[in-house]
Amino acid sequence: MTSLPPSGDVVGAGRFAPSPTSDLHVGNLRTALLAWLFARHSGRRFLVRIEDLDVTRVAHDPAIARRQLDDLQALGLEWDDAVVRQSERIELYEAAIRLLDADPGTYPCFCTRREIAEAASAPHGAPGAYPGTCRDLSPAERRARAAGRPAALRVRADGSTVRVVDELAGPVEGLVDDFVLRRNDGAHAYNLAVVVDDIAQGVDQVVRGDDLLPSTPRQAWLTSRLGGRVPTYAHVPLVLNAAGRRLAKRDGAVTLADLAARGVGPDAVRSRLACSLGLAEAGEPVPMAVLLDRFDPGSLPREPWVWTDQEASRMSTT
Ligand code: GLU
Repeated sequence: MTSLPPSGDVVGAGRFAPSPTSDLHVGNLRTALLAWLFARHSGRRFLVRIEDLDVTRVAHDPAIARRQLDDLQALGLEWDDAVVRQSERIELYEAAIRLLDADPGTYPCFCTRREIAEAASAPHGAPGAYPGTCRDLSPAERRARAAGRPAALRVRADGSTVRVVDELAGPVEGLVDDFVLRRNDGAHAYNLAVVVDDIAQGVDQVVRGDDLLPSTPRQAWLTSRLGGRVPTYAHVPLVLNAAGRRLAKRDGAVTLADLAARGVGPDAVRSRLACSLGLAEAGEPVPMAVLLDRFDPGSLPREPWVWTDQEASRMSTT
């Protein structure tokens, strides 16, 4: 194989790509709703991809992905094409590694997290960037280190600074270090899989939580290296809990199932999410078609939305 399968599609696509680690909470659902709105508003297809590379290695409940899809449907999000699961696409990631191995090159890395943290905090080290410890090991050094520990695989990036202009967050610059393509437990890294899949699926619009903003320059760089077209990006502010931290399942009634148990159905949740986006009045029923009609990317709120447990009680009484 000399290149990744071309997307072949004239019409581009947006996507929502949950990891099936736990049920979707209102923050995830709000991001999914935005990904759908951005895609449909721009005439794109909307795809759903289950990012299960991590969870297949540890004991996990396969019913979670099923429930995530059911919840997206209950909220009214319809997608095109069959749902793709990363655990079934290992060949594609290996093909991409072969391409990168040929140019710009890859190398095994034996560093522990601790070694990387120590080396990266040395004077002149770029914060958070891989310092290149294993880049120029001799074959003999590699053999010696391989005896002690399985290797991760890193790409030889050129250390350049890549700039992307995010539709919501504005310009973002980041150093592209020699990041990991395959971890030392054999799992393909998120940055590789997400880029390979986006190219292969014809995704040219990425809408997701802004916790992933720091990964974006690396992903844009990798997209170009693999011959893909860099997508447009819109990173959505996360939903926070009352303490100002990222919303999590332990923050009370936050999933559709929790809310249903309190008498709040999916239509009421959609209405509340729409209201938080400035697309509906409080308690106003809003079908998806109405939301799409009202959607204007330029007037979305740019601050995080705070969800407190009172939301659920307030919604069950409206
Ligand atoms: N699977 C990632 C997550 O659930 C999202 C990846 C992406 O949208 O690029 O956080």
